[in-house]
Amino acid sequence: MAALASANDTIAAIATPVGQGAVGIVRLSGAGAIAVADAVFSSKKGKPLSSARTFSICYGWIVRDKDAFERAGRTPQAMPELVVDEVVVSLMRSPHSYTREDVVEINSHGGPRVLSVILELLLEKGARVADPGEFTRRAFLNGRLDLAQAEAVLDIIQAKSELALKNSLTQLSGELSRKMKALRCRLIEALADIEARLDFSEEELPSASDAAARTTLTGVLDELRGFLEGSFCGRIIREGLKVVIYGRPNVGKSSLLNALLRTERAIVTAIAGTTRDTIEECVSIKGLAVCFVDTAGILEAHDEIERLALERTRKALSTCDLLLFVVDGSAPLGREDEAFLSQFGPSAKLIGVVNKNDLPARADPGKLRALLGARPLIMVSALQGEGMTQLEEEILKAVFHDPALLSADVLVSNVRHIGILKNVAAALERSIDSLQKGLSPEFVAVDLRRAADGLGELTGEVFREDVLDVIFSKFCIGK
Ligand code: GDP
Repeated sequence: MAALASANDTIAAIATPVGQGAVGIVRLSGAGAIAVADAVFSSKKGKPLSSARTFSICYGWIVRDKDAFERAGRTPQAMPELVVDEVVVSLMRSPHSYTREDVVEINSHGGPRVLSVILELLLEKGARVADPGEFTRRAFLNGRLDLAQAEAVLDIIQAKSELALKNSLTQLSGELSRKMKALRCRLIEALADIEARLDFSEEELPSASDAAARTTLTGVLDELRGFLEGSFCGRIIREGLKVVIYGRPNVGKSSLLNALLRTERAIVTAIAGTTRDTIEECVSIKGLAVCFVDTAGILEAHDEIERLALERTRKALSTCDLLLFVVDGSAPLGREDEAFLSQFGPSAKLIGVVNKNDLPARADPGKLRALLGARPLIMVSALQGEGMTQLEEEILKAVFHDPALLSADVLVSNVRHIGILKNVAAALERSIDSLQKGLSPEFVAVDLRRAADGLGELTGEVFREDVLDVIFSKFCIGK
């Protein structure tokens, strides 16, 4: 478990990814950060970091033995064996830093060996290796970020698309937290009012305040439901949309994948059943990450390879957000098409795609419309790349019923937040129910307190160490 920030010991970690790069960064935070860095850093100007102003950058060398290096004239030529690397060091003094502690960042060359030697030297001088996410955990515990903002940091690092990045940046700016804190304030005021009434007898209770509490609670509940409705889109924006391309062999599924990707990813041949494995590739559509999965067009397996292909297809079908059901418009609709389609119930999110629109039409559109019901039907030619823009628009429409959600100012997208909001909404519903039934204020207050605490857990105003452990363990070391 991560040490508490109150311990304020000095932590160090390599903050850049493993591997070779132009630059690498080793980061230090804590009361001893500057002294530890000073013990291994010799600046060209001969000034210690401890005398440098906050937000300053110093040029020099990381050395194995600072005294010997300085005695030899502070030049790498004099004692090259002492020099680990030529570096630029930046200094951010408490409280104006990411963690609100003293922070030092050493920018060296980005080789794994250089970085690990620098880290080892810092550890020798008194720092300890940071736990995953410990810098951000300290930022949270020191009040620099609230919990939802800290989680946004991870989402920014992991953002798969422009939209996901935009939503995470909004969350980092504190927009979601502000909204949740405002809702929590309204609940706490209502709770204070209800708790004050615990001291009165039944007869003394003013009925008007019951009505006022109900109005407040239903107002908050409505807003929470709005957030929960948008959270479906939030999750898709965060994780990307998974779209499976499905249909009988040779209808043009692989060609459609290639057309959507605008590249030759999948092998296309006139030989039926070329795609044995599922092929997954992602593109950005209007800033949203969309992963298309091309599947083997088989319903039954005749050998081991087909059995595995079928298994993967089923898995893709069970985890996708949307299905593109492809038919060959240049051939009559067959029993096989119907057999493929009949696997999906009326609630499955599906778009009918009639391919090979460049050839004379032989598929009966009326029959296909009857099979698809109210679901959309798009005509395309994968070979000529026609109809792709319309198909992309239809894909977005099928998932985002309200396109305005794509540009919503803030969407709840984190699974932890969604779970909390569901619990808070349920507690509020119980509270409102108790009010409506005229139950004693204790009953109303119990659920109301739960709801207020829940919102507090989302922003971290109320937190448990074990929850923090889970959240920050997902971060990389050095963040
Ligand atoms: P899959 O088995 O469903 O993945 O089908 P493929 O993408 O491998 O295509 C099967 C055959 O149909 C290939 O010969 C493709 O060139 C051809 N094909 C695919 N899409 C089109 C199209 O839009 N128009 C025409 N004329 N042929 C197509």
